[in-house]
Amino acid sequence: MRLRFPNGGLRGTFEARGYTGWDVTSPAYILENPNGNTLCIPTVFISWTGEALDKKTPILRSQQAMNAQAQRLLKLFGHTDVDTVVSYAGAEQEYFLIDRNFYFARPDLMSTGRTLFGAPSPKGQEFDDHYFGAIPERVLAFMIDADRELFKQGIPAKTRHNEVAPGQFEIAPVFEKANLATDHQQLLMVTLRRVAEKHGMECLLHEKPFAGINGSGKHVNFSIGNGTQGNLLNPGDTPHENAQFLVFCAAIIRGVHRYGGILRAVVASSRNDHRLGANEAPPAIISIFLGEQLMDVFDQIAKGGATASKESGTLTIGVDTLPDLKADPGDRNRTSPFAFTGNRFEFRAPGSSQSISGPMVAINTIIAESLDFIATELEAATDAGTDLNVAIQKVLEAIISEHGSVVFNGDGYSDDWQVEAEARGLLNLRTTVDALPQLDTPEAKALFSKYGVLSERELASRYEVYLEQYALSVTVEARQTLEIAQTVILPAALRYQQELAVGAAALAQLSLPTNNTVLESVTSEIGALTAAIDVLGAALSGHGGDSTIDEARYGVETLIPAMTAVRTAADALERLVADDLWPLPTYQEMLFIL
Ligand code: ADP
Ligand code: MG
Repeated sequence: MRLRFPNGGLRGTFEARGYTGWDVTSPAYILENPNGNTLCIPTVFISWTGEALDKKTPILRSQQAMNAQAQRLLKLFGHTDVDTVVSYAGAEQEYFLIDRNFYFARPDLMSTGRTLFGAPSPKGQEFDDHYFGAIPERVLAFMIDADRELFKQGIPAKTRHNEVAPGQFEIAPVFEKANLATDHQQLLMVTLRRVAEKHGMECLLHEKPFAGINGSGKHVNFSIGNGTQGNLLNPGDTPHENAQFLVFCAAIIRGVHRYGGILRAVVASSRNDHRLGANEAPPAIISIFLGEQLMDVFDQIAKGGATASKESGTLTIGVDTLPDLKADPGDRNRTSPFAFTGNRFEFRAPGSSQSISGPMVAINTIIAESLDFIATELEAATDAGTDLNVAIQKVLEAIISEHGSVVFNGDGYSDDWQVEAEARGLLNLRTTVDALPQLDTPEAKALFSKYGVLSERELASRYEVYLEQYALSVTVEARQTLEIAQTVILPAALRYQQELAVGAAALAQLSLPTNNTVLESVTSEIGALTAAIDVLGAALSGHGGDSTIDEARYGVETLIPAMTAVRTAADALERLVADDLWPLPTYQEMLFIL
């Protein structure tokens, strides 16, 4: 067994040396523990050869890259005294709470974070009574305690409420600069788990702890701005401010269209695969929701330029005559992975257990690239004597006609959207194994290296680490499935089968009527279970190949279907076997006893 830090080939097992450097933009904090207090200082972590091994260095670099390009644009808009532009992030964290006694009786939850078995509870989330109901008292006590612990660490927790599924809740801190929000998000997850333990509960951060009911996401709300200009995604009161806002919005639309594959890849994990596209979370297709009003404005721009260009003197129509934009333009859309919500975007695809660093690095970098593109166009036009407004109109028009197909305001859960998205040429990367190779494309390498966010080697290492994590996670789940099926579920089913058989024989001996329906059903499901166990066992003794991508593909193509077959038979048995013989806590118990 090697003890090593996942590094994707950046750091040999024998190369123990690495460097840390304080991140002075993220305040140190004091962590209380049973031994006393520990001073914690957020740091970057760099390899012996100078490459970033961490998630902090890239986010700092990406903030810098985005700032450099935003400055160019703000200068074009005539701002001279410009503060550093940063992105802000506010992550809504969803989670489940269950009684710890159940947790310890579920080896699958303990080792994989999700239930690998479990028939649906007769009552699920269909009444929405948990969502709209009061917070259970035991949970409220936990939430108040968690808020207090978070405040002590300087984390501004704010929103807390019940979520859709029974036993599911949400907490959202007040937004902060993205790198600070990223640190705080990690601490928040640790704190939730720690405080839940104190209250005799386990906090489940997995994206899909329970099949058949809603999973958990982490909606990353983000905006960009600075001290002098404020929020650059806030529609202004004047056409001039609106033009600036629209340029930043257009940059994001363009970036999401060009690099949708990357945005999909940075939320990819075996855990999130259970959630994306499952009609409760955004689909795996990355599109943008703008809302009616903003959509209308962009439509006007697209049309406005075309007609106005004939009448000299009114060329600026698409920009200068825009209606004032209201702060809350239009409805919200739950089904969109990337939604404009009035003064910010909400990236809804990230999973509940992941760091928000990856998503924020990708967002900052694609915005930087788009701002660079737009600034270059506008600088060239104005240098050649074109009026800024005319040039803006032209750029916005071009962006909307080229990238407008990423805008979708309809129902992302519908089957029609899958078909339409394909016709629009949008990617629909269903699994992690489909999505991660998006980090291995020439476009991704060029993007991240051009802006100094991740070198090709650093990016390749991330790709390798995420693939490896995927392959390992699926393998552990498959092993755990096999073990529980063989040593927990099959023995219970056999005991019940025997009890039924002995009972039937006794009744027959007494010449009493016997009904063997249950025995026959149990026997047939035991047959299905043992057959599925054999297939899974065989799958686990094989492997995908020498490369990590082959291992990952083996997971999705061979191990997961074999695990699913075992679960199907086991869940059927759960519905048949006498409750007092069933060895695992049921969905009903775990979800409703709090
Ligand atoms: P909802 O569930 O209605 O979307 P929440 O209050 O649960 O709203 O979460 C909204 C999140 O968005 C919070 O973390 C909040 O701080 C954050 N947020 C609000 N305004 C901005 C902004 N301008 N930039 C980034 N994040 C923001
Ligand atoms: Mg919320």
